[in-house]
Amino acid sequence: MTAKISFYGRELNTYRANLHMHSTNSDGVYSLGELIDLYGKEGYDVLAATDHYRTNKVSETDSGKLLMLSGMEFHPVGPRGLRLHLLAINIPEDFEDPSSLPYQEAIDAVRAVGGECILAHPYWCGLNCSDIMQIKNLTALEVYNSDTRFIGKGNSVQVWDNILQLGYHLPAVAVDDTHRARDFFGGWTMICAGEKTVSSVMEALKNGTYFATQGPVFHKLNFENNVFSVECSPCEELIVMSDCSFGICGSMSGLKAQNPAESKDSCEITHFETEIPDAPTLTYIRCQIKDKNGRYAWSAPVRI
Ligand SMILES: [Zn+2]
Ligand SMILES: [Zn+2]
Repeated sequence: MTAKISFYGRELNTYRANLHMHSTNSDGVYSLGELIDLYGKEGYDVLAATDHYRTNKVSETDSGKLLMLSGMEFHPVGPRGLRLHLLAINIPEDFEDPSSLPYQEAIDAVRAVGGECILAHPYWCGLNCSDIMQIKNLTALEVYNSDTRFIGKGNSVQVWDNILQLGYHLPAVAVDDTHRARDFFGGWTMICAGEKTVSSVMEALKNGTYFATQGPVFHKLNFENNVFSVECSPCEELIVMSDCSFGICGSMSGLKAQNPAESKDSCEITHFETEIPDAPTLTYIRCQIKDKNGRYAWSAPVRI
């Protein structure tokens, strides 16, 4: 059954998505059919085929209940001569690889045909926040990438906060970047949408109506009258974060939850509410949670 979420006042369904994967059509070891089978059995709802430099004929695949998005990972040269890894999501199946174009033209070419661009594994690429600030018209960045964790660079949370603080209001996705067996099911994006259709899912992607996770889930996110409130699966750590040194800890491993009713047997927490001060230095808030297995989920940022 599809899980629900109360997303800033809207009652929506959540759809589990892997937005980054490679088949034998580029450097993956599984065929697209095998990937569809494996992700389908794991209970995913949405998959984007993002082979390097090329699309797949996703409309000709037998995807069962999975919604397939046509995509590509493309690689124009970016700021400081660094090779970018960008996901184009929802592009025509005959879309030509734009990697030889200047990076901004390549991104804009994707957008011109109705696609969205996600900045893949910025930490692994060596990108800093001033590099990313130069890349316009992105839809999201990857806060977590399963494949690149094997060189210790799967987690791009710091550069994400850096650009948010500089005013680049990007939400974040988590992905597998599936190449081989070790990459499976490590990070995914919970798309919060009315229905499992390309238009509804892409609308959610465009608007940041989703959260990134390695396992824990949000059931409710809300921000009203300066009060941020969250309901989630049981977590040992819950932090509401904002610019610079500002952060409010709802719970932290090793400490008791602030709500005594939550802390009888363990410090696991399932809901939290906090008032955000009306300070001009605070420009965004986001919530991150960690379960007892050390797995994180990250909400999209909200402007304040
Ligand atoms: Zn890549
Ligand atoms: Zn990739």
